Amino acid sequence: AREIHLASRPTGYPTEANFELVEAPVPTPGDGQLLVRNLVMSVDPYMRGRMNDAESYIAPFRVGEVLEGGAVGEVVASNAAGFAVGDVVLHFAGWREYAAVDAAGAVPVDPGVAPVNAYLGVLGMPGMTAYAGLLDVAGFREGDVVFVSGAAGAVGQVAGQVARLRGAKRVVGSAGSAEKVAYLVDELGFDAAFNYKDGPVADQLAAAAPDGIDVYFDNVGGDHLDAALRSFNAHGRAALCGSISNYNTPDPVGPRHLGLAVGKRLTLRGFLIGDHEHVRGEFTREVGGWVADGSLRYRETVTEGIEHAPEAFIGMLRGDNIGKALVTL
Ligand code: NDP
Repeated sequence: AREIHLASRPTGYPTEANFELVEAPVPTPGDGQLLVRNLVMSVDPYMRGRMNDAESYIAPFRVGEVLEGGAVGEVVASNAAGFAVGDVVLHFAGWREYAAVDAAGAVPVDPGVAPVNAYLGVLGMPGMTAYAGLLDVAGFREGDVVFVSGAAGAVGQVAGQVARLRGAKRVVGSAGSAEKVAYLVDELGFDAAFNYKDGPVADQLAAAAPDGIDVYFDNVGGDHLDAALRSFNAHGRAALCGSISNYNTPDPVGPRHLGLAVGKRLTLRGFLIGDHEHVRGEFTREVGGWVADGSLRYRETVTEGIEHAPEAFIGMLRGDNIGKALVTL
């Protein structure tokens, strides 16, 4: 069975040389474990941080060892009560065709309710990040003007639509191509969107939100966060979700206008989705309902074949994806 190892640590953008496709024996599940044949795996921005040898909220990947991450697969052998062959489970042993997974780390999912891919995207970790970030962390209220960066990605596409469906006065998005901007406005119902590569973010945001913004959902950091600081109305609130503009550079760019937070009495809150498990029930009901009735739309960018997982990951970091980036196995 094939799996992907970390061959070396990248500096700057990763390259395919940082990964190695390895042939390994199919694992034998121990007591309390399942043998899972993976169907689809996630490639996520936070994995870039795990490629560095740096202390963080999650341990670094180890050179010469298999990578890991979210995946959905089918149980092909079970040594655990409550799981049977044929069950489909969400777990954390991605980047490999076969995984021996502790039953405690496997969550059954129902492919009859939603396609398996959705459990890694719109109805999974990224979707819940959007929901918790907007509602729990930024304290979104009906009538707010909301700005979402990275808006055409897995998290951003959901964040902007939750804001719209919950009664935002105006939803503005930024993304890195004309195609993504059209997707936001024409398909997802954003009121305005701009390509951040077309000119200074601060100018484009000021034009798209002439009366200022109340909430900023930050996926990008750097000049996007700086632009939001300048556009914020008094008592504005930011959910600091990620800062992808700084993930592949050893020399991060920070916001220069943080001083504005004082006079505007802003709240800037970082968060990790793992701390927001309490929203899961409400998230699943509300977002699941919107997906089912078609009021919330989403895309996925699917790459086929585990051997192409490194290029899918690198492509995602460079903006090749619209919606959730996934690899089918
Ligand atoms: P996306 O699907 O949004 O993919 C990443 C996107 O980032 C790319 O498609 C690209 O789109 C954009 N991007 C890359 N480089 C830059 C840049 N220099 N400036 C602006 N945009 C850039 O990923 P996710 O939706 O999975 O994640 C979005 C953010 O949310 C990330 O920052 C991630 O780390 C964070 N996150 C945080 C969590 C938490 O618990 N706090 C949980 C999950 C995600 P484009 O073409 O627009 O440039």
